[in-house]
Amino acid sequence: MSQTPPTQAAPTQAGPKTSLPRTAPLRARAEIDLAALRANVRVLRDRAPHAALMAVVKSDAYGHGMVPCARAALQAGATWLGTATPHEALTLRAAGITSRIMCWLWTPGDPWREGIEADLDMSVSALWALTEVTAAARDAGRPARIQLKADTGLGRNGCQPADWPELVAAARSAEDAGLVRVTGLWSHFACADEPGHPSIAAQLNVFRDMVTYAEKAGIEPEVRHIANSPATLTLPDAHFDLVRTGIAMYGVSPSPELGTPADFGLRPVMTLAASVALVKRVPAGHGVSYGHHYVTSDETTLGLIPIGYADGVPRHASGRGPVLVGGSWRRVAGRVAMDQFVVDLGGQQVPEGSEAVLFGPGDRGEPTAEDWAQAADTIGYEIVTRIGTRIPRVYLNELNGLREPAGMHEGFGDYDDE
Ligand SMILES: *Cc1c(COP(=O)(O)O)cnc(C)c1O
Repeated sequence: MSQTPPTQAAPTQAGPKTSLPRTAPLRARAEIDLAALRANVRVLRDRAPHAALMAVVKSDAYGHGMVPCARAALQAGATWLGTATPHEALTLRAAGITSRIMCWLWTPGDPWREGIEADLDMSVSALWALTEVTAAARDAGRPARIQLKADTGLGRNGCQPADWPELVAAARSAEDAGLVRVTGLWSHFACADEPGHPSIAAQLNVFRDMVTYAEKAGIEPEVRHIANSPATLTLPDAHFDLVRTGIAMYGVSPSPELGTPADFGLRPVMTLAASVALVKRVPAGHGVSYGHHYVTSDETTLGLIPIGYADGVPRHASGRGPVLVGGSWRRVAGRVAMDQFVVDLGGQQVPEGSEAVLFGPGDRGEPTAEDWAQAADTIGYEIVTRIGTRIPRVYLNELNGLREPAGMHEGFGDYDDE
């Protein structure tokens, strides 16, 4: 596998890129391994061989950087991209991405017309949205691509079964008027990360009924879809025409109960590391950080890690979050502050500037995002997604072409060779 030189992107996705050697001193950085992301996309495609794959890149690709991750997913065979907001989807188009792009979280007054002109597939859950999108289509002088969303039991967005006939009929009329084309019928699971949960079979039954109803009413969707990452990994019956994968593509397990990323052949994409800013000796009985919730039991050394809750290190992991520093796991001593936290190095003299790894794939002995999720009593999704804009993303193994060159389908073995 050819190594492309890593680049450091400015915190905003559209910002300029400057080349920095990997060893450049940085307060903190999130390394994003795009080869791992591409390999994960291929694993997920193998899991759902009869469905197309939508790479979900909402919320800055779960904190990994939207545009580079979108490109990498397309290079590995994803054919759709998914975002929550229309603004995210329009940003992808503005970056020159030509794949299908779907976005699903609309509020009144949102840019429907720009969405039509950018060829987005736009989700419609209710009549108000159909009214706005048809008005925008009239203004634009061309039909909108819409996908009708069914609430099959999640109880969040989507159209209730009782309201479905009215929404379907209105969408059919709008199609007849040349204002919309219904490209998809879709829904979302509540408990796909709990295999065997009775709501899964119930939602699948409701989904099949709502799809059948719409098709009998004359809707001819290109794609029917309901599967997120956990359903893609564990529920082949839920794959239909398209699977929408987010967290698994980033190599983070949807839930510890389901298994580790490695159990599914997935590799974590993000490594979060910081440079040790200060190491000092302190006597026994010394309080550490705000509130003095940690007090040294013996004379020891303290290491200052210059990254805090403003960067996405959860304050709820105070006293617990694990860090690999000087070859050992250390725990956050006392509170995580806005910009920094402290670890007790137990007398070890770690040179300033040493690397402190908060999480990564785990194969250098570092903690994983799942370890931080456990320490902060949350889910891996939140750990990676909340990493803030003050942390530069450093992209590794970025490919410049549209596709991977033939013979470059790197597997996990490549990592062993490095
Ligand atoms: C976020 C999201 C997904 C992706 O979910 P993962 O569990 O991360 O795979 C799929 N569909 C919708 C509607 C979403 O909001």
